[in-house]
Amino acid sequence: MTKQFNAFEMAQNQFDEVAEKLQLDASTRELLRWPLREYHFLIPIQMDDGSTQVFKGYRVQHNDARGPAKGGIRFHPQETVDTVRALSMWMTWKCAVVDIPLGGGKGGVICDPHNLSPREQERLCRGWVRQIVRNVGPVQDVPAPDVMTNPQHMVWILDEYEKIMGGHFPGFITGKPVEVGGSLGRTEATGTAVIYTVREALKRLGIPIEGVRASIQGFGNVAQYAAKKLIELGGRVISVACWDNNDRTAYAFVKPDGIDVDFLLSITDRFGTIDKDKAREAGYEIKPGDAWLEQEAEILIPAALENQITGENAAKIHPSVRLIAEGANGPTTPEADAVIRERGIFVIPDFLCNAGGVTCSYFEQVQSNMNFYWPKEEVLERLDHKMTVAFHAVADLAEETGEYMRDAAYMIAIQRVATACRLRGWV
Ligand code: NAD
Repeated sequence: MTKQFNAFEMAQNQFDEVAEKLQLDASTRELLRWPLREYHFLIPIQMDDGSTQVFKGYRVQHNDARGPAKGGIRFHPQETVDTVRALSMWMTWKCAVVDIPLGGGKGGVICDPHNLSPREQERLCRGWVRQIVRNVGPVQDVPAPDVMTNPQHMVWILDEYEKIMGGHFPGFITGKPVEVGGSLGRTEATGTAVIYTVREALKRLGIPIEGVRASIQGFGNVAQYAAKKLIELGGRVISVACWDNNDRTAYAFVKPDGIDVDFLLSITDRFGTIDKDKAREAGYEIKPGDAWLEQEAEILIPAALENQITGENAAKIHPSVRLIAEGANGPTTPEADAVIRERGIFVIPDFLCNAGGVTCSYFEQVQSNMNFYWPKEEVLERLDHKMTVAFHAVADLAEETGEYMRDAAYMIAIQRVATACRLRGWV
């Protein structure tokens, strides 16, 4: 039986393997395999019925040698400090691989926002920042939305921070609505940037983008914008898969001559479920959820959830597939990764492929700090440049050393952070 690791053990094991390849010295390894700092605190909130409830909050700063820590705040009933630690470490590597001057952080509150009224959620956001105000900020640690937190939560957190600090500090937090210092282009950034990396990978593989076929898992934020961008560049999306809220299962919507994103959006309800009857009428074939990876296509884009390509289903990947672009976080299990590697499929690893989101958040922070905002075209142009340069740095290293793309990406990221620590005299 394979040993089940928790997320933080997994992150540490990944780090240890790469540290070995890079021959990092013992003190650098010790420094980077743990968070630099972590804060655990209690947030007492007055509930609408007059009672007081006490919530547990966290902020973990894994490393800030390259710049202020950056990472989301999650509201989740099953949140554990180990998950937050792992996520903060992954943020360090994600920011480093795209070479933005930020470190890695993550925060969370153990709660279920579905059971909280908007006023209670507001008090929780304000309470969170009151407990951590001295240790976060535009030059220390910059939070963002994450699981079950949204732009409104960010505004409440920002507003409380600014009240305490007595000034305007929009660069303290990202994921803000555009009306309060958010960046244009953030909504489409992640999915669009997935395709910037796909475009560059196709060039290296010698596959023309014109007419290239992709099958996508998911039809949410990342998947929709990835599909739109690929189609805009001349590619064809032959299937998307989404969760059906009514049937409590996933379906793939297959159309070999190419899906129409706007049409599918027009028949998607507010829970993200695509209307099967209307899709069928329009010529889509409806298949079980897993069918997305069995389609004849050159590209697979998992853009839904973690652990979707597994040791069991990896064998079903169609022989035509040449490229897997990991739009989601952690979509491929280690067992599946071994199969994909063996088959010689080119992989754009998640923390590089979906780093368009954090890169755009960095742009938001830059604009907020300057109090000067760029047009959307400029944001996306800068995003394209960052992603393209980052992708080729990783692909060049993979080519030069014969390393798998995922390992090459970790090597670049970890080396950059290790160098910053050394230059600062920390190790
Ligand atoms: P989302 O909630 O907007 O969309 C998720 C999609 O996955 C939905 O269409 C849902 O129907 C579908 N889905 C859920 N379960 C499924 C299943 N079993 N089979 C098929 N489809 C299923 O989420 P998102 O923002 O698009 O994020 C998707 C992934 O990308 C996540 O792993 C997220 O962590 C990662 N990511 C997102 C961003 C971002 O900026 N949005 C940035 C980096 C990484």
